[in-house]
Amino acid sequence: MRYDVVVVGCGPSGASALRRCAELGLRSLGVEKYKLPRPKPCAGILYPRVLEDFQVPREAVLSTLQGIRLIAPSGKQAFIKLDPPGAIVDRQVFDYLLVQEAVKVGAELVEEARVRKVEVRGTSYQVYVEGLGVVEAKFLVAADGVYSTIARSLNLPWRKEDLALTMQTYVRVSEEARRSVEGIFEVYYDPSKILGGWIWVAGRARDVLVGIGSSLNYLNHPLKLKQRLTSFLKHRFKEPKVLKEEAYMLPFKGPKKDSQLVKGKTIFVGDAGGFVRSDTGEGVYYAMHSGLAAAEAIYDYLAQGGSLKDLYVKKLDERGMLQLYGLTEVHEALLSVEEAEAFIDRVRKLGGA
Ligand SMILES: Cc1cc2nc3c(=O)[nH]c(=O)nc-3n(C[C@H](O)[C@H](O)[C@H](O)COP(=O)(O)OP(=O)(O)OC[C@H]3O[C@@H](n4cnc5c(N)ncnc54)[C@H](O)[C@@H]3O)c2cc1C
Repeated sequence: MRYDVVVVGCGPSGASALRRCAELGLRSLGVEKYKLPRPKPCAGILYPRVLEDFQVPREAVLSTLQGIRLIAPSGKQAFIKLDPPGAIVDRQVFDYLLVQEAVKVGAELVEEARVRKVEVRGTSYQVYVEGLGVVEAKFLVAADGVYSTIARSLNLPWRKEDLALTMQTYVRVSEEARRSVEGIFEVYYDPSKILGGWIWVAGRARDVLVGIGSSLNYLNHPLKLKQRLTSFLKHRFKEPKVLKEEAYMLPFKGPKKDSQLVKGKTIFVGDAGGFVRSDTGEGVYYAMHSGLAAAEAIYDYLAQGGSLKDLYVKKLDERGMLQLYGLTEVHEALLSVEEAEAFIDRVRKLGGA
């Protein structure tokens, strides 16, 4: 089996790359290790920019996102009303619809097929896919998330400081408590309780999602994160009933250097390339745009030659993705109570009442 492009992983970045490759007439295969639809640990927060740039199907929307509330250690708050509003989505449904769009325009897809490793053979790649055998590809799009097999296979590991550990708990609370946060995304900063960490609460249509994240640089033991989350939950909600718990890594320092975003004819997109806002943990928007940029860079490379890396960086720039480098203001608020208070004051001055 020979393809122009094999896209490894079918989350938002992979599905977007796959769709665009197929639209551009490239013979493309998406390889996904799980049976779809598959869950993805995520708060499901889509800011208005996502709805402006992409179709967000109604079936995926759990609640309208009305605003963001930021809370300082002292309890001081800044509220940012979103007008137009954003959305809180069910990632399992959202991601699956994106993959289906790719298949509709001619991309091929294999599910329950884990890529084990890749090898360079002449000018193409041999992709070793569990249950399928070896697939040949001229280009690879590494869309396999934060635990990227392709990055490991090509010897591009993360540094500890690039990552944050996150934990999320889905809870059922009283109807009154749920209504009080429905459609609101709250973010709590308090370095005195967890250095380098932050907590979020997302009020959804049927339950409430409470999460915690911390830079690996400051985390001595994952248990500390779990304890802080449990203690926060007890104080924030009366008798929360835990429905589900999950833990996952989050890229935390913005995109990798451009020399690590393209290796040979492999392009890294989404979490595998670090395309997450380091101030908010938002990744879906950047995953989708980086996936589209990768497909367009491959197309241009085939049409006009040149440097694949330069073409990808140009496409990323056109899509506003390079602003992701250097968003470090909030990191200081994670390390000092004074900085956290000052950060909330600045947001209030900018109009967050
Ligand atoms: C706790 C948490 C909360 C978050 N909340 C938000 C939020 O509210 N809003 C937001 O915008 N972002 C949020 N994010 C970030 C967002 O989830 C990611 O940025 C986004 O999922 C990245 O998409 P992706 O397609 O690059 O990777 P993923 O969504 O991780 O998809 C990667 C895919 O690759 C597949 N895969 C992996 N390895 C292989 C392999 N070897 N072979 C084949 N397939 C493979 C996986 O099964 C998966 O389907 C959150 C992240 C975390 C951890």
